[in-house]
Amino acid sequence: MYILPFLSYNFYMPDILIIEDEKDIVETLEYNLKKEGMKVMKAHDGNEGIRQAEGKIPSLIILDLMLPGLDGLEVCRRLKRNPKTSGIPVIMLTAKGSETDKIVGLEVGADDYITKPFSVKELIARVKTILRRYEPTIVGQPAKATLKFRDLEIDSDRHIVLSAGKEIDLTAKEFQLLHYLAENKERVFSREQLLDRVWGIDVAIETRTVDVHIRRLRDKLGKTGRHLETLRGVGYKFHV
Ligand code: CA
Repeated sequence: MYILPFLSYNFYMPDILIIEDEKDIVETLEYNLKKEGMKVMKAHDGNEGIRQAEGKIPSLIILDLMLPGLDGLEVCRRLKRNPKTSGIPVIMLTAKGSETDKIVGLEVGADDYITKPFSVKELIARVKTILRRYEPTIVGQPAKATLKFRDLEIDSDRHIVLSAGKEIDLTAKEFQLLHYLAENKERVFSREQLLDRVWGIDVAIETRTVDVHIRRLRDKLGKTGRHLETLRGVGYKFHV
Protein backbone atom coordinates (compact mmCIF):
# COMPACT_ATOMS: atom_id res chain seq x y z
CA MET A 1 0.00 0.00 0.00
CA TYR A 2 1.15 3.46 -0.83
CA ILE A 3 1.45 5.69 2.22
CA LEU A 4 1.42 9.41 1.81
CA PRO A 5 3.97 11.39 3.77
CA PHE A 6 1.30 13.29 5.69
CA LEU A 7 -0.43 10.11 6.77
CA SER A 8 2.62 9.01 8.67
CA TYR A 9 2.01 11.93 11.05
CA ASN A 10 -1.18 11.12 12.85
CA PHE A 11 -1.71 14.68 14.01
CA TYR A 12 -2.16 16.10 10.57
CA MET A 13 -5.33 15.58 8.54
CA PRO A 14 -5.78 17.66 5.41
CA ASP A 15 -9.18 19.32 5.10
CA ILE A 16 -10.86 19.26 1.74
CA LEU A 17 -13.62 21.69 0.84
CA ILE A 18 -16.16 20.35 -1.67
CA ILE A 19 -18.17 23.02 -3.50
CA GLU A 20 -20.87 21.16 -5.42
CA ASP A 21 -24.66 21.27 -5.49
CA GLU A 22 -25.26 17.64 -6.52
CA LYS A 23 -25.78 15.89 -3.22
CA ASP A 24 -24.93 12.36 -4.35
CA ILE A 25 -21.57 13.49 -5.73
CA VAL A 26 -20.84 15.29 -2.47
CA GLU A 27 -21.75 12.20 -0.46
CA THR A 28 -19.60 9.89 -2.56
CA LEU A 29 -16.64 12.24 -2.34
CA GLU A 30 -17.09 12.78 1.38
CA TYR A 31 -17.18 9.06 2.06
CA ASN A 32 -14.07 8.36 0.01
CA LEU A 33 -12.02 11.32 1.24
CA LYS A 34 -12.77 10.44 4.85
CA LYS A 35 -11.74 6.87 4.18
CA GLU A 36 -8.37 8.30 3.12
CA GLY A 37 -7.99 10.09 6.43
CA MET A 38 -9.02 13.53 5.25
CA LYS A 39 -11.47 15.96 6.80
CA VAL A 40 -14.32 17.23 4.66
CA MET A 41 -16.03 20.62 4.51
CA LYS A 42 -19.05 21.08 2.23
CA ALA A 43 -20.70 23.97 0.44
CA HIS A 44 -23.64 23.68 -1.94
CA ASP A 45 -23.19 26.95 -3.78
CA GLY A 46 -20.43 29.32 -4.77
CA ASN A 47 -20.96 32.06 -2.20
CA GLU A 48 -21.11 29.57 0.64
CA GLY A 49 -17.95 27.96 -0.74
CA ILE A 50 -16.05 31.23 -0.77
CA ARG A 51 -17.25 32.04 2.75
CA GLN A 52 -16.03 28.68 4.05
CA ALA A 53 -12.70 28.90 2.24
CA GLU A 54 -12.03 32.32 3.78
CA GLY A 55 -13.07 31.18 7.21
CA LYS A 56 -11.11 28.00 7.58
CA ILE A 57 -8.52 27.88 4.79
CA PRO A 58 -8.87 24.26 3.60
CA SER A 59 -5.87 22.29 2.30
CA LEU A 60 -7.55 21.87 -1.08
CA ILE A 61 -10.84 22.71 -2.83
CA ILE A 62 -12.83 20.48 -5.16
CA LEU A 63 -14.91 22.92 -7.14
CA ASP A 64 -17.73 22.08 -9.52
CA LEU A 65 -18.10 24.30 -12.56
CA MET A 66 -21.90 24.10 -12.67
CA LEU A 67 -23.24 25.72 -9.55
CA PRO A 68 -26.38 27.70 -8.82
CA GLY A 69 -25.70 31.43 -8.54
CA LEU A 70 -21.97 32.06 -8.91
CA ASP A 71 -20.51 29.51 -11.30
CA GLY A 72 -17.32 27.60 -10.61
CA LEU A 73 -15.17 29.80 -12.81
CA GLU A 74 -16.21 32.94 -10.98
CA VAL A 75 -15.70 31.21 -7.63
CA CYS A 76 -12.20 30.17 -8.68
CA ARG A 77 -11.41 33.65 -9.97
CA ARG A 78 -12.47 35.21 -6.65
CA LEU A 79 -10.57 32.66 -4.57
CA LYS A 80 -7.38 33.23 -6.54
CA ARG A 81 -7.73 37.01 -6.37
CA ASN A 82 -8.07 37.10 -2.59
CA PRO A 83 -4.69 36.92 -0.81
CA LYS A 84 -6.32 34.93 2.01
CA THR A 85 -7.40 32.12 -0.31
CA SER A 86 -5.11 32.41 -3.34
CA GLY A 87 -2.71 29.78 -2.00
CA ILE A 88 -5.36 27.04 -1.77
CA PRO A 89 -5.09 24.54 -4.62
CA VAL A 90 -8.28 24.00 -6.62
CA ILE A 91 -9.40 20.95 -8.60
CA MET A 92 -12.20 21.84 -10.97
CA LEU A 93 -14.95 19.43 -11.99
CA THR A 94 -15.93 20.16 -15.57
CA ALA A 95 -18.57 18.92 -17.96
CA LYS A 96 -17.62 16.02 -20.18
CA GLY A 97 -15.66 16.90 -23.24
CA SER A 98 -15.80 20.64 -22.89
CA GLU A 99 -12.34 21.78 -23.92
CA THR A 100 -13.26 25.41 -23.34
CA ASP A 101 -14.19 24.70 -19.73
CA LYS A 102 -10.84 23.06 -19.11
CA ILE A 103 -8.85 25.85 -20.66
CA VAL A 104 -10.78 28.62 -18.97
CA GLY A 105 -10.58 26.69 -15.70
CA LEU A 106 -6.81 26.64 -15.83
CA GLU A 107 -6.74 30.26 -16.92
CA VAL A 108 -8.63 31.39 -13.84
CA GLY A 109 -6.09 29.60 -11.68
CA ALA A 110 -7.41 26.06 -11.12
CA ASP A 111 -4.55 23.63 -10.46
CA ASP A 112 -6.14 20.65 -12.12
CA TYR A 113 -9.46 19.58 -13.58
CA ILE A 114 -11.32 16.35 -14.00
CA THR A 115 -14.25 15.72 -16.31
CA LYS A 116 -17.61 14.39 -15.23
CA PRO A 117 -18.51 11.59 -14.98
CA PHE A 118 -15.27 10.90 -13.17
CA SER A 119 -13.83 7.93 -11.37
CA VAL A 120 -13.61 8.56 -7.65
CA LYS A 121 -10.33 6.68 -7.56
CA GLU A 122 -8.87 8.98 -10.17
CA LEU A 123 -10.06 12.08 -8.36
CA ILE A 124 -8.61 10.90 -5.04
CA ALA A 125 -5.31 10.21 -6.78
CA ARG A 126 -5.28 13.77 -8.15
CA VAL A 127 -6.11 15.16 -4.71
CA LYS A 128 -3.18 13.29 -3.20
CA THR A 129 -0.78 14.39 -5.92
CA ILE A 130 -1.67 18.02 -5.44
CA LEU A 131 -1.54 17.79 -1.65
CA ARG A 132 1.94 16.31 -1.88
CA ARG A 133 3.02 19.16 -4.10
CA TYR A 134 1.42 21.86 -1.96
CA GLU A 135 1.28 20.54 1.50
CA PRO A 136 3.43 22.53 3.83
CA THR A 137 6.12 20.63 5.60
CA ILE A 138 5.29 19.18 8.94
CA VAL A 139 7.14 19.97 12.11
CA GLY A 140 9.42 17.07 12.91
CA GLN A 141 10.05 16.32 9.25
CA PRO A 142 13.56 16.90 7.98
CA ALA A 143 13.34 20.47 6.83
CA LYS A 144 15.58 22.94 5.16
CA ALA A 145 18.25 23.56 7.76
CA THR A 146 18.48 27.29 7.42
CA LEU A 147 15.88 29.72 6.25
CA LYS A 148 17.40 33.02 5.24
CA PHE A 149 15.64 36.28 4.69
CA ARG A 150 17.09 39.72 4.27
CA ASP A 151 17.04 40.55 7.97
CA LEU A 152 16.20 37.23 9.56
CA GLU A 153 17.92 33.86 9.71
CA ILE A 154 16.37 30.72 11.16
CA ASP A 155 18.84 27.89 11.63
CA SER A 156 17.10 24.68 12.65
CA ASP A 157 20.32 22.66 12.98
CA ARG A 158 21.69 24.91 15.66
CA HIS A 159 18.27 26.10 16.82
CA ILE A 160 19.32 29.70 16.43
CA VAL A 161 17.46 32.72 15.21
CA LEU A 162 19.34 35.81 14.09
CA SER A 163 17.18 38.89 13.88
CA ALA A 164 19.04 41.73 12.18
CA GLY A 165 22.28 40.01 13.12
CA LYS A 166 21.36 39.61 16.77
CA GLU A 167 20.82 36.18 18.31
CA ILE A 168 17.34 35.80 19.76
CA ASP A 169 16.51 33.40 22.56
CA LEU A 170 13.31 31.50 21.76
CA THR A 171 11.49 28.65 23.48
CA ALA A 172 11.13 25.40 21.51
CA LYS A 173 7.51 26.14 20.55
CA GLU A 174 8.24 29.73 19.58
CA PHE A 175 11.04 28.46 17.38
CA GLN A 176 8.87 25.78 15.77
CA LEU A 177 6.05 28.22 15.12
CA LEU A 178 8.36 30.77 13.52
CA HIS A 179 10.14 28.11 11.48
CA TYR A 180 6.86 26.63 10.28
CA LEU A 181 5.42 29.95 9.18
CA ALA A 182 8.69 31.04 7.56
CA GLU A 183 9.12 27.78 5.71
CA ASN A 184 5.63 28.16 4.29
CA LYS A 185 6.00 31.86 3.70
CA GLU A 186 3.09 33.87 2.28
CA ARG A 187 0.65 31.11 3.13
CA VAL A 188 -2.14 31.90 5.51
CA PHE A 189 -2.81 29.51 8.37
CA SER A 190 -5.74 29.58 10.75
CA ARG A 191 -5.09 29.23 14.47
CA GLU A 192 -6.55 25.73 14.37
CA GLN A 193 -4.17 24.71 11.59
CA LEU A 194 -1.20 26.07 13.48
CA LEU A 195 -2.30 24.18 16.59
CA ASP A 196 -2.66 20.99 14.54
CA ARG A 197 0.67 21.31 12.84
CA VAL A 198 2.92 22.90 15.43
CA TRP A 199 1.44 21.58 18.66
CA GLY A 200 -0.42 18.47 17.44
CA ILE A 201 -4.17 18.01 17.65
CA ASP A 202 -4.01 15.61 20.56
CA VAL A 203 -2.93 18.45 22.80
CA ALA A 204 -5.87 20.07 24.56
CA ILE A 205 -5.05 23.74 24.30
CA GLU A 206 -6.92 26.81 23.21
CA THR A 207 -6.44 28.67 19.95
CA ARG A 208 -5.54 31.70 22.08
CA THR A 209 -2.22 29.93 22.74
CA VAL A 210 -1.24 30.69 19.15
CA ASP A 211 -1.92 34.41 19.64
CA VAL A 212 0.14 34.43 22.81
CA HIS A 213 3.09 32.79 21.06
CA ILE A 214 2.87 35.18 18.10
CA ARG A 215 2.84 38.14 20.45
CA ARG A 216 5.90 36.87 22.32
CA LEU A 217 7.70 36.15 19.05
CA ARG A 218 7.03 39.69 17.84
CA ASP A 219 8.29 41.11 21.12
CA LYS A 220 11.46 39.07 21.02
CA LEU A 221 12.18 39.61 17.34
CA GLY A 222 11.74 43.36 17.52
CA LYS A 223 11.89 44.93 14.07
CA THR A 224 11.81 41.64 12.17
CA GLY A 225 8.61 40.72 14.00
CA ARG A 226 6.88 42.59 11.17
CA HIS A 227 7.24 39.42 9.08
CA LEU A 228 4.50 37.86 11.21
CA GLU A 229 1.30 39.23 9.78
CA THR A 230 -2.13 38.95 11.31
CA LEU A 231 -5.02 38.47 8.91
CA ARG A 232 -8.00 39.56 10.93
CA GLY A 233 -10.58 36.86 11.40
CA VAL A 234 -8.43 34.33 9.57
CA GLY A 235 -5.03 33.71 11.10
CA TYR A 236 -1.38 34.38 10.44
CA LYS A 237 1.21 34.30 7.74
CA PHE A 238 4.90 34.96 7.33
CA HIS A 239 5.27 37.83 4.91
CA VAL A 240 8.72 38.28 3.39
CA1 CA B 1 -23.06 20.96 -10.01
